[in-house]
Amino acid sequence: MSQSIHVIGHQQPDTDAITSALAHARLKQRQGVDAVPARAGELNPETEFVLDHWDVAPPSLLADATDEELILVDHNEHSQTVDGAREAAVVEVVDHHRIGDVTTSNPIRFRNEPVGSTATVLTGLFDEAGEEIDSQTAGLMISGLLSDTVVLRSPTTTDRDRVVAERLADIADVDYEEYGRTLLTQKSKLGEKSPREMVLGDFKEFEFGDTLVGIGQVETVSPDVVLDQRDSVIDAMDEVLDERSYDVFVMLVTDLLEEDSSVFVAGDHTETVAEALDTTFEDREAFLPGVMSRKKQVVPKLEEALR
Ligand code: MG
Ligand code: MG
Ligand code: MG
Repeated sequence: MSQSIHVIGHQQPDTDAITSALAHARLKQRQGVDAVPARAGELNPETEFVLDHWDVAPPSLLADATDEELILVDHNEHSQTVDGAREAAVVEVVDHHRIGDVTTSNPIRFRNEPVGSTATVLTGLFDEAGEEIDSQTAGLMISGLLSDTVVLRSPTTTDRDRVVAERLADIADVDYEEYGRTLLTQKSKLGEKSPREMVLGDFKEFEFGDTLVGIGQVETVSPDVVLDQRDSVIDAMDEVLDERSYDVFVMLVTDLLEEDSSVFVAGDHTETVAEALDTTFEDREAFLPGVMSRKKQVVPKLEEALR
């Protein structure tokens, strides 16, 4: 009767969500738990590169989590969970985001820390368990860490992330600056993407009170690829906003080299969004100097303004 516990990250998985599912499933297995890594959506090009580089098979897709047991990594709110998660039993959470709305009927391990990546938190869990981190697992985890922190440049980066990055890079035997630059290039592969794919590529949904908000982000070393087709991108945003009945939809186009963002807006609350982000929209586009992090520099401001 016993079934495997699925270790799973958020929808529209990024590298940290996938590599954390893989690494944490390994830790649980070593502790004798029947845990398997899973994913809630398709891999992005950066993550495909990472799995290929470290020669690791992708976690299998969990289409519906109804009646399953779940360990959530890299998220803890239902607007981002795998389908069916409300009818599943969440038995553990490992994350580095704001506390969301996932509730449980039994007491569980809930580990959330304000650091740059779930990989950073997981490194601590390996240490606490007295489990050694092998070089392949270190390779997976340094990938999640470097991806989330934009190679330690994002304002979400903490001193602990820097220490952990040095250590994982050492175990995995990579030069993290050089490897990180390769990841940034992979992350920026937008060439063949349609505007709709750009809009939905790295996408998160939030409920701020009764306000349903979508926040997309493209992180790239060549933002002009997106900005040059701004009209079609904004059309795609309007389409998604209608389909999903969002009240607000913002999309960040983050320039990883200049370390700033442009933002597009859709929906009825442009004035409120502009005020919250301390900017002005012209033709639904605005500039956000110094903004790189959705989590730290955008979500809290929009939540405060829109709730
Ligand atoms: Mg993530
Ligand atoms: Mg993360
Ligand atoms: Mg991320």
